[in-house]
Amino acid sequence: MVDYQSPKNVMAESTDSSDTTPTKKILVIEDEADIQVLLDYNLRVAGFSVIQAYDGEEGLLLAVEHQPDLILLDWMLPLLSGIDILRQIRNHAELRNISVIMLTAKGEEPDRLRGLNGGADDYITKPFSPKELLARVHALLRRASGGHNNILSCFGLDLDIEQKRVMRDGQVIHLGPTEFRLLEHFLRNKGRVYSRSQLLDSVWGRDVFVELRTVDVHIRRLRKAININNKPDLIRTVRSMGYSLEAPTE
Ligand code: CA
Repeated sequence: MVDYQSPKNVMAESTDSSDTTPTKKILVIEDEADIQVLLDYNLRVAGFSVIQAYDGEEGLLLAVEHQPDLILLDWMLPLLSGIDILRQIRNHAELRNISVIMLTAKGEEPDRLRGLNGGADDYITKPFSPKELLARVHALLRRASGGHNNILSCFGLDLDIEQKRVMRDGQVIHLGPTEFRLLEHFLRNKGRVYSRSQLLDSVWGRDVFVELRTVDVHIRRLRKAININNKPDLIRTVRSMGYSLEAPTE
């Protein structure tokens, strides 16, 4: 199965044309023109195709239209803030799986951001070096795509998004559709604790009215399914807070 660790020599690979995958599309949602120019230049030089949006509404429209591989999202935007946009992306059936890197200004505290139920995949603080940004972009794209197969891998789990298949240490695990989506959500946000209502929003969707208890039922099923053969429990119950997917403590 795919192993995405050790992204060696990320910069060197950015200009390597031996890769036959189609050009990756990156949507930049940023209201500051000089940063747009800087990002556009550096991303194009690195071989990406770039789509620019100057506010959140335009960004969401372009995201649906172009289905980018990754979104660079500024936090401080007019009208809709980056956090609002991120929530909409994560609640949008066609956009929820797109990788998002948030651009934050100094003082906007990535920790605080991380605690929100935004579900960004990574953060970068302005001012940033283009080199660092490109390294993050490459690392995230590699992680998200798991090679060419859309496989999320972590803690011995491999979730194949396209094939709808899950394995743990090479053994096939059968999950219902809700458990599959729950696990996918946890794998994309490993280590983060989600309350039951946050999980309802992210996995079931905001417009669905489901009791909080339902989450516990599906967590129980998911836990039972993935903790096969007395393997260590990967789902942590955080008292009075919620659940997270974490490395087993052994
Ligand atoms: Ca801004």
